[in-house]
Amino acid sequence: MLECAWVFLLAIYVLPVTHAQIIESKLPAGIAVVPVPSMAPPALRSLIERSVPILMFHIVRPALSSDTKDIKLFAVTPEVFDQQLSYLEQHGYSIISFQDLSDYFNGTKQLPGNPIILSFDDGWKNQYRYAFPLLQKHSMHATFFIFTNPMEYNHPHYISWDEIREMSAAGMTFGAHTITHPKLTDITDEKVLEREIIDSKKVIEERIGKPVTLFAYPFGLYNEHILDIVKKAGYTAARTTKWGTMQSSDKLFELKEINVNNDFQKFVSNLESRDN
Ligand SMILES: [Zn+2]
Repeated sequence: MLECAWVFLLAIYVLPVTHAQIIESKLPAGIAVVPVPSMAPPALRSLIERSVPILMFHIVRPALSSDTKDIKLFAVTPEVFDQQLSYLEQHGYSIISFQDLSDYFNGTKQLPGNPIILSFDDGWKNQYRYAFPLLQKHSMHATFFIFTNPMEYNHPHYISWDEIREMSAAGMTFGAHTITHPKLTDITDEKVLEREIIDSKKVIEERIGKPVTLFAYPFGLYNEHILDIVKKAGYTAARTTKWGTMQSSDKLFELKEINVNNDFQKFVSNLESRDN
């Protein structure tokens, strides 16, 4: 896998520069050839695959006796979350961003050993209250996929725009997760579909004053048409809810994830058994 990446990088970067240097050596003094970064046409690019777990969190708060089975599937207590982050530190994981992964697949960046991405969905207030301080304690960063209506209407169960700006200033990344969290595959009105995908990006950009380049499909639902709209909207990558860690350069808009809940042993075994 690594060899494959190196051949790819050699082909697109080292070779053009070397070629330019050969030409330069034949030119009169004072005339330089500026190497133009040359990307191979898409058809000639090698497919790159790399095992990069993208952890997906939803609820981070103390357990409640009223928690249903469904909530338990997506909830982690602050104590276990802290333990999970410590595990990543102790086992040499390097937190990278979605942008790092995208740059790696586009041949412009190398990745550290044991790369891993942390992501949070839906923008629950408990993520600000419990996860954000623990991420800071461990000097880690994460991407938060938010759908914008709860923030626009100041819903008390969701992170506010002020808190989002605070998190953004502290190094957290925000991605779009639509406006109303619909099942995108059920929407037949093209304008509504575009509004959910395109306007959610614009709203977050306006509110935080930074570009938004990442998207997560609500309920993990998408099809080819939705993929096209996401690409045209200017996103550079998108996360699904497909289980797995093997990411691939031709699937930047269909990135896989590992769902995390309070089962620490499952968290460990998911990482240990990853398909690398
Ligand atoms: Zn969601």
